[in-house]
Amino acid sequence: MKKNKNRIIENIEILDFAAEGKCIVKNDGEVIFVEGSNVCPGDEVKMVVSKSKKKFSEGRILAINKFSKDRIEPFCSHFGVCGGCKWQHIPYEKQLEQKQKQVFDQLTRIGKVEIGEIIPILGSEKTTFYRNKLEYTFSNSRWLTNEEVNSGKKISKDALGFHIPKRFEKVLPVNKCYLQGDPSNAIRDFFRDYAHDSGLPFYDHVAHQGFFRNVMIRTASTGEIMVVLQVADEDTSKIEEVLNALVEKFPNITSLNYFINKKRNDSYFDLEPVNFYGLPYITEEMEGLKFRIGVKSFYQTNSEQAYNLYKIVRDFAQISEDDLVYDLYTGTGTIANFVAKKANRVVGIEYIEAAVDDARINSELNGIENTSFFAGDMAKIFTDEFISQNGKPDIVIADPPRAGMDKPVCELLLRIAPKRIVYVSCNPGTQARDLAILSEKYEVEKINPVDMFPHTFHVENVASLILKS
Ligand code: SAH
Repeated sequence: MKKNKNRIIENIEILDFAAEGKCIVKNDGEVIFVEGSNVCPGDEVKMVVSKSKKKFSEGRILAINKFSKDRIEPFCSHFGVCGGCKWQHIPYEKQLEQKQKQVFDQLTRIGKVEIGEIIPILGSEKTTFYRNKLEYTFSNSRWLTNEEVNSGKKISKDALGFHIPKRFEKVLPVNKCYLQGDPSNAIRDFFRDYAHDSGLPFYDHVAHQGFFRNVMIRTASTGEIMVVLQVADEDTSKIEEVLNALVEKFPNITSLNYFINKKRNDSYFDLEPVNFYGLPYITEEMEGLKFRIGVKSFYQTNSEQAYNLYKIVRDFAQISEDDLVYDLYTGTGTIANFVAKKANRVVGIEYIEAAVDDARINSELNGIENTSFFAGDMAKIFTDEFISQNGKPDIVIADPPRAGMDKPVCELLLRIAPKRIVYVSCNPGTQARDLAILSEKYEVEKINPVDMFPHTFHVENVASLILKS
């Protein structure tokens, strides 16, 4: 009976956190990983076991019967429904401890990596209002809370806010978000009120019709503000009316843009933005360097912590003036440009061509002449031939996406054997896998986890690898 599917367990204690925002419970020796980052170790829950495997099972929380004494009061009224800031009920110190433990466990258990030194995780000074970018979605299918459903009151179905996890068409109406500083909340409220008052329809994500689709707000430490509105209607007079009203209310917006998107998906990478007012970009500054951020450009979303992360990377890389440095997965070339002053030459490689264009612009903007950037899929472009054309790196910095590095990339690194590799990762699981491959020639001298995203389970880890003698 024990291992059948959809078994309900009435009352069981959450024992500990596990990787990827999951938690762990034990039921008569059976290890069960549960979805649900809204819980806290010490909570007693009702749960369902949905899958049983040989070594462990998986399940979902149905209800929390009793709260752990370790919980703290969440600061946001949307806690529990919204997909962001899911760890608000965990004290920040505990979050950091947990993230550090996750990195250590993944590296030592999965990767069987020996780590020379573990530098304690660097917490984010700002734990709220730390993001420089948010995207809000308009929907005519508002998420209703149980109280709203039970109140019997007539409530507008329109909402501007965040998608509900796993219920894509449903949108949680956000009245205050703690992720992005002023004037982010006020700009969102402006659009919500304007949309309601004008009668222009909020988007229908099932029928694919409506006017207002979404709005992106970007803020920079320079005080510059970018707003990008996405509409599904070509009537430019209506668009101009909204945007003029916005500028009148927020004259400090420095870059105002829109997309007309009549496709079924929200992605704008295949669309051309229209610059309505101000410049088509904003500028971020870091240690006197300027970074231009266009409508479609990638930039680390926690700018202050990104600076701390880059300083750790630069410190770990120990670049000297004769060194040829490769920055793999360079994005818009931020790290490449950040370290260029110390190096003889820096080569950046990145998949998205528009990002490579930004990387070049960023070098030019800062008078940096010793960088070159190449666009292509890493496994295809980073080859022996590429090395023979561009030189053998002394130092490699790599900041791959969550999937980690492709095996051929690790294998080429082993063949060319740079004296040092600095591996920045947003997924300790795949980093562990890659470090295990690289351990053939490299030892992990030290690691330094960094928290870029307080109140989430995400963790960044920087590892310094040195060639074994
Ligand atoms: N270091 C950069 C961002 C790195 S994010 C910064 O700090 O700003 C990871 C980058 O890897 C993204 O820009 C993504 O487009 C790129 N990428 C993902 N898969 C890739 C692949 N297969 N080949 C090359 N680049 C890839």
